[in-house]
Amino acid sequence: MKKILALLIAVVMIFAFAGCGKDDNSLTVTEGKLTMATNAEFPPYEYYEGDKVIGIDAEVAALIAEKLGLELEIVDVAFDSIIPGVQQGKYDMGMAGMTVTNDRKEKVNFSDNYAKGVQVVIVKEDSAIKTVDDVAGKKVGVQQGTTGDIYASDTVENGGYGEENVTKYENGALAVEGLKNSKVDCVIIDNEPAKAYVAANPGLKILDTEYANEDYAICFAKENTELQKKVNDALKELIADGSLQRVVDKYISAK
Ligand code: GLN
Repeated sequence: MKKILALLIAVVMIFAFAGCGKDDNSLTVTEGKLTMATNAEFPPYEYYEGDKVIGIDAEVAALIAEKLGLELEIVDVAFDSIIPGVQQGKYDMGMAGMTVTNDRKEKVNFSDNYAKGVQVVIVKEDSAIKTVDDVAGKKVGVQQGTTGDIYASDTVENGGYGEENVTKYENGALAVEGLKNSKVDCVIIDNEPAKAYVAANPGLKILDTEYANEDYAICFAKENTELQKKVNDALKELIADGSLQRVVDKYISAK
């Protein structure tokens, strides 16, 4: 009887741990490390300085890792690979100026919100598109898998522009290239990267009218509620003592 019970427990344990993709007792995929997936083409949240990924998310994640006693490792992947990778247990978390949406909530858990985003429209300075209302029927560039893509690709009845009018680029920088080369008439993207791209590319501007307001948060695998909780505790401390704001100011407000 005892043997059968032991066997049963062993079987249950194997099932419990299979597919978790992390060490049995470890909080993270690799013990001692906090592996963060991001898409480092999203200034000022994540971008390259030399061969290093810097930005608001990178610095906040480093502060979180420090509080958790873990070493931060940043992995740069396509934006639409972040959630699948987190679900499969390849990465501990995804942090990429990621908007909290109901669809994504079905796949991953989110931390508390740590920033606000706004979807805006970038056009050429002499564009016929003067307001968001002029976008209908024009060619729209987006970053694949982002909320800008999701809204724009939706049907006209649902407030989108129709899949056939949307060109999906692998990242924001390529979408902006598409606009400069007149492959698309506008780019729908988050406001802070939009500002950075416009500053870096003369002849472009952001429309005054905003497209959608959003919250950014960090995502985790549904199973890893322990890490989600620890990160939330760390985030609360970083918000309370002003550290998070200091990082934001360094990259945004203080500019
Ligand atoms: N905030 C947008 C989203 O979550 C874009 C994020 C990004 O491109 N890194 O879809």
